[in-house]
Amino acid sequence: MKTNPQTNLFEGSRRLQMNESIELTIQSLHAYGPKYNYWCMAWSGGKDSTTLVTLIVWLIISKKINPPKKIYIMYADTRLELTPLFYAAQTIMEELAEHGYKVEVVMAAMENRFLTYILGRGVPPPNNATFRWCTSRIKIEPMQHALEKLVGDLGEKVLMLTGVRQGESAIRDARIVLSCSKNGSECGQGWYQETLPKALCDTLAPILHWRVCHVWEWLKHWAPLPEYGDFSTELIADAYGGDEAEELNARTGCMGCPLTDKDTALDNLLKKPKWAYLSPLKRLRPIYRELRKPQNRLRKTGKEITNERNKQRMGPITMSARESAFNEILSIQDEINEAAELTGMPKVFLLNHEEQEFIKTCWANNLWPNKWTGEEPTADIPMDTVYADGSIQPLIQFGN
Ligand code: SF4
Repeated sequence: MKTNPQTNLFEGSRRLQMNESIELTIQSLHAYGPKYNYWCMAWSGGKDSTTLVTLIVWLIISKKINPPKKIYIMYADTRLELTPLFYAAQTIMEELAEHGYKVEVVMAAMENRFLTYILGRGVPPPNNATFRWCTSRIKIEPMQHALEKLVGDLGEKVLMLTGVRQGESAIRDARIVLSCSKNGSECGQGWYQETLPKALCDTLAPILHWRVCHVWEWLKHWAPLPEYGDFSTELIADAYGGDEAEELNARTGCMGCPLTDKDTALDNLLKKPKWAYLSPLKRLRPIYRELRKPQNRLRKTGKEITNERNKQRMGPITMSARESAFNEILSIQDEINEAAELTGMPKVFLLNHEEQEFIKTCWANNLWPNKWTGEEPTADIPMDTVYADGSIQPLIQFGN
């Protein structure tokens, strides 16, 4: 059969580039890896860190790099992973176990999870860089604690391998971009590089120089082959919405992330008929928006004795708003799971049974964030203006 020489040429050069990328990765591991007895990988389940984990395991089993004494793989479960990515991670975990690598699941403590923190304690959803409590609370701190425990048990520093990637510019520019949305990186990724304490680990980003097309090439065409580890990584591409998402250099984060303008990953996913049953997840962001409105939050009157400059700041979410958001989230969950039951697709547990019970206990205990009692007025009630110096401008009353 006649072959198309152009296709062959293209594939040939792609293979060459892939081999070059892999070779640079091997060189970085040869240079830094042997200095440490133990390596650790922070795996988010996204495209870059999944590439890292499967690549490193393949490099070891194919004897292209020498393994350390032991590798620890820590999967960061935020509880809000995009459903197909979460299930892809579960499958890949089983495959890693077949290769002899057991994965530790790292999750925030019950009170610190995204939804329990909001609905149980009443802290408003994060909204921008000044009130972005989520990345540290649900991603960084749990990983830090797991690492502290590991290093404490081992009694020595580990080499933390991260999936931070800067594409071709990495070769020209050695700076690490920390923003969660730059260059299609996953939220939290760069933060691992920046914030994990130097006393516990040194970090290495072995795929820093990989271009996004190489990541997809690895996940879709290389890693699924038996000679490259036989991993179900093609499920990851599906989770990003397939070819279209690849072109956009897509990123994923928590479902309904209130810090992004659009649910790009979810929107791409919903275009695929088999995942369309997840469409009720589109209602998450409006719930978070609603919870931030003045009528659903308390406000300090400013007449309390404090040394805060913003004396009348808006604060936590009222009990009734927490309860209605809780019910709405459960109805989203029920709707999805009824459809999942009919079609045999994966179910979604935005709030599992323990989390529901925990939230109800918080309500029963009248739990409020520090410095709030629940006695404050709601933020939509007009009140005298109190300035930072304590001076008061009375509310103008319009009488008859
Ligand atoms: S993806 Fe969004 S909600 Fe999740 S941790 Fe990152 S910024 Fe927060």
